Amino acid sequence: MDILTFGSKAECSRCGQCCVKGSPTLHFGDSQLIKDGTLTYKDLFTIREGELVYNNMDDEFITIDCELIKIREKAGCRTCIFHSEDASSCDIYENRPVQCRAYECWDTEKFMTAFTEDKLTRAELLKGQPSLIEVVNAHDLKCSYKNLAGLFSEIAEGKDYTGEVLEILGYDTYLRPLLIEKTGVPEEYLDLLLGRPLIETVIMYGYKVEKDDEGNYCLLPIQ
Ligand code: SF4
Ligand code: SF4
Repeated sequence: MDILTFGSKAECSRCGQCCVKGSPTLHFGDSQLIKDGTLTYKDLFTIREGELVYNNMDDEFITIDCELIKIREKAGCRTCIFHSEDASSCDIYENRPVQCRAYECWDTEKFMTAFTEDKLTRAELLKGQPSLIEVVNAHDLKCSYKNLAGLFSEIAEGKDYTGEVLEILGYDTYLRPLLIEKTGVPEEYLDLLLGRPLIETVIMYGYKVEKDDEGNYCLLPIQ
């Protein structure tokens, strides 16, 4: 959970508040949790380099300068999917990730040290699957957030780069079902393999995507 809140506790009361405020980013040491089946690909998603994410430490959106693999969060909120609300407990507590073990809301030093350790990457997870790595790399190149940020900044200056943006969004949108069809990967793996769909994350640039009457995608500024 990428959160930092200061308190006066000296030990964890397992209140679960940190699990409600965000899911953990996985570190290299967490790859064992995937090998032993505690976590599966469907439990994870990727935040790609250059993506805007909410930093609740400083209450602001920041651009991520490296790839992060995170445990999914429940729909419509930031609660980790393994947080059980009724019991206020963790479904995988005995095998929870490095960040969860390091987090102590009353003293963030241990967490900050853990956060600087090597993060897990898709390249590491997909070792031995060169065809999937090739697809991931080609997608990253074509759908780079750095390129998108540049195009949206040109649009903000009054230039018409809508077509270029829609071409990138189209590539991302149509690659997803194609990847399922050609490789047989489950749909639930796509947010890990390709990151979250661009037609959803484009909101970070102040735009939304809608289909017109003829089924074509349109880019619209959010009012
Ligand atoms: S570390 Fe998390 S679960 Fe433990 S007391 Fe702090 S907020 Fe609650
Ligand atoms: S894995 Fe468990 S301890 Fe970690 S954020 Fe999720 S529910 Fe909380």
